[in-house]
Amino acid sequence: MTGSVSVIGLGLIGGSLVRAADAAGWKVRGATRSESTAAAARDAGFDVTSSLENLLRDTADDALVVLAVPLPAVTDVLAVLPHHAPRCRLTDVVSIKQPVAAAVARRAPQARYVGGHPMAGTSASGWSAGTATLFSGASWVVGSDDGADLEVWAQVARLALDCGAHVVPAGAADHDAAVARVSHLPHVLAAVLASVGADGGPLAMALGAGSFADGTRVAASAPDLVRAMCEGNRDALLDAVDDALGRLGAARGSLASTGALAATLQAGHRARQAFEDRHRANGTTEVDLAAPGALHQLREIGQSGGRVITVEGTRCRARV
Ligand code: NAP
Repeated sequence: MTGSVSVIGLGLIGGSLVRAADAAGWKVRGATRSESTAAAARDAGFDVTSSLENLLRDTADDALVVLAVPLPAVTDVLAVLPHHAPRCRLTDVVSIKQPVAAAVARRAPQARYVGGHPMAGTSASGWSAGTATLFSGASWVVGSDDGADLEVWAQVARLALDCGAHVVPAGAADHDAAVARVSHLPHVLAAVLASVGADGGPLAMALGAGSFADGTRVAASAPDLVRAMCEGNRDALLDAVDDALGRLGAARGSLASTGALAATLQAGHRARQAFEDRHRANGTTEVDLAAPGALHQLREIGQSGGRVITVEGTRCRARV
């Protein structure tokens, strides 16, 4: 047995996590809000309850507890946690990190919390949307701010690796600034693009093909879930929106004055190429989690686009 994990919230992400962790040999238990989701998970053979209190009481001593609920529900869960598992090892999968860290500090200050965020998903929601392979090949951010509990860090990283992901260490503020650009802005742009396309009427809808489908895919996500993460990351998202508006304004100005879009399209083409090359590593490096400065070293790996690929004891190996 690799370890024990208790997952709270069994939708797309939590439901995928219990399946993936179970397949990797973890002892898995779960809790969710509704009896209908709990029953569906039990029918699939998982040890699941609709009583959060029972889950926390029964598992908090030995399990890593994972919050896999939407951001607005985090405070509800954290209100219960200190009564049953005040000093538990705690992580989460929520799409923004600073608000969750602040909520944990306020409501469950004794919990040994290390934040997490698997960069994987689909536009579907709920238990039935989950799969054991959702995290295969994905980046999984593991919170690496100064003061993070490195024993919990290692356990969260092992869970992510066992689920098929690689680990990207990052501080909460750096994470939130980065995802504003590569996750939250795409949701806003997809919503705008979908609306612009629809305003073209039935003919435009009938002609929409690959580029429209790809560019609007995430607009099919549950709006409340997207709203929670975008509005929760307001300051960083505003910076990203301003950057996009500036570039759109420059493209519009150039198109209107000279008819040229070359600068916009070439810059985008180069940027997309860089994205496709992101996993081209030059070498490996090791971090000893027991050595001074380990968290700083881990953050540097994340900042440089590197990823941790193994954790054995206190030794992490990373591709950089
Ligand atoms: P989802 O499919 O809508 O599932 C949310 C789950 O949370 C549901 O199973 C729901 O339970 C449960 N829940 C809600 N309130 C609860 C409460 N108070 N106590 C216990 N369970 C509660 O959402 P998701 O896509 O899995 O997202 C979950 C988290 O992962 C969010 O914080 C999101 O930001 C993050 N995330 C999402 C994606 C993505 O692409 N979707 C990617 C990475 C991270 P019931 O079914 O029983 O009602």
